Amino acid sequence: MAIETTTKFYLPEVLPPAGPAPDGRDLEYWQALNQHRIVVQRCNACGNLQMEPEYICYKCHSLDRGWQEVSGKGRIYSWVRIWHPVPQALKDSCPFLVVLVELPDANGLRIAGNLLGDPNQEVVIGAPVEAVFEDHKERGYTLLQWRLVR
Ligand SMILES: [Zn+2]
Repeated sequence: MAIETTTKFYLPEVLPPAGPAPDGRDLEYWQALNQHRIVVQRCNACGNLQMEPEYICYKCHSLDRGWQEVSGKGRIYSWVRIWHPVPQALKDSCPFLVVLVELPDANGLRIAGNLLGDPNQEVVIGAPVEAVFEDHKERGYTLLQWRLVR
């Protein structure tokens, strides 16, 4: 189970607060992050795990959705170093790293986040990472970030 908490933000709070979609389809995910847990959507009909959360199972089209807690241990599946961010509010924070993390205990499901540490560090596909919960308490949400396991 994870792992570490940080109150230092990887990126400045220049974007609107993160949190559940207005329709609430991912509310459980955000509530779990606030409790420093990670849950992914699990179809109650066929067991399919999926991320991002949706109202329907991508595999069997069931509307019977549940949740499954995962460990917060993964490996880097892909990554990008951002030099020209789409949100211009982040232009002074470049470069920064975004990783797509594969979760072995969730059938290889992938979750995106930032890779903490030096933004100019070498990034290796397959490198083991672990979850870090970045609390933005004054704004009422927690972000899921990642750091290398050394
Ligand atoms: Zn299903």
